[in-house]
Amino acid sequence: MEADTWVHPPELWTARIKGSCVCGAVRWSYEEPFSAMLYCHCSICRKHHGTLFAAFVAGPLSTFHWRAGTEKITTWSSSARGKRSFCSTCGSKVPNVNHEAQLVFMPAGALEGELGIRPQMHLFVGSKAPAFEIHDGLPQHAAYPPEWGAQGLDTPARAMPDGVSGGSCACGRVRFELDGRPFRMHHCHCGRCRRARGSAYASNVIYELGALRYTQGEDLLADFDLPGAEFFGTSFCSRCGGALPRRSVKRGAAVVPLGALDSDPGIHPLAHQFVSFKAPWHEIHDGVPQHPEAAK
Ligand SMILES: [Zn+2]
Ligand SMILES: [Zn+2]
Ligand SMILES: [Zn+2]
Repeated sequence: MEADTWVHPPELWTARIKGSCVCGAVRWSYEEPFSAMLYCHCSICRKHHGTLFAAFVAGPLSTFHWRAGTEKITTWSSSARGKRSFCSTCGSKVPNVNHEAQLVFMPAGALEGELGIRPQMHLFVGSKAPAFEIHDGLPQHAAYPPEWGAQGLDTPARAMPDGVSGGSCACGRVRFELDGRPFRMHHCHCGRCRRARGSAYASNVIYELGALRYTQGEDLLADFDLPGAEFFGTSFCSRCGGALPRRSVKRGAAVVPLGALDSDPGIHPLAHQFVSFKAPWHEIHDGVPQHPEAAK
């Protein structure tokens, strides 16, 4: 984040692909064509990113370079083989490097501009958010495609007691509850939301500020306020990086990442907003209204 940590300012990089977290501390670049792009609906991705689904690109490791901020990266082992990395300052998801396979996996929402590839398939639709319908024509796999020969790994949704809404981070150490009903839900495609979540867009459910109650692990909760932004910030689990509800005192609201919820919020999305900033590789196929900027 500080200027003196920079060797070359990013506008001088010649790399084809540039990525960063939302606070700007962690940065990376990449050259080769990507070999795969996919949406993942597994419950770990949904909790980690706080979204309806995650979006990844993958490619050969040889031309991937960290440019800054590797000391800020925290990595959580989601399973014996699964690793999830995030910026410890802002909670944004950052690339994972697989040295064994010589591959790098990047959160697509954190990358700038045209990626030269389009999403190819949906993974783990067997554990997708129940109310979410997939309307594009891409192949759907219950877990991994059979030809990958990979073992599926997933965590079941955690049931909430009747009459209570709530959820947790991806590792389950931080838990929260919400009283009453939300008054709004929207999908946001702005560059800040895409960077912070690493996916095509953020889906947020808005409750009254007083409705939010952390019931477990609040000492692990990390908050980040984006310098210079009127409202933008993030809350996340400092252990796993899972997106968590944020107390926005200025707005008098609790902003809950949809993917963090264990229960259906029972509200229809108002709109896709800031679609003028939408990622070029993502197409919107649901019938939800689209606004070029903020939806009122
Ligand atoms: Zn960051
Ligand atoms: Zn996943
Ligand atoms: Zn956690």
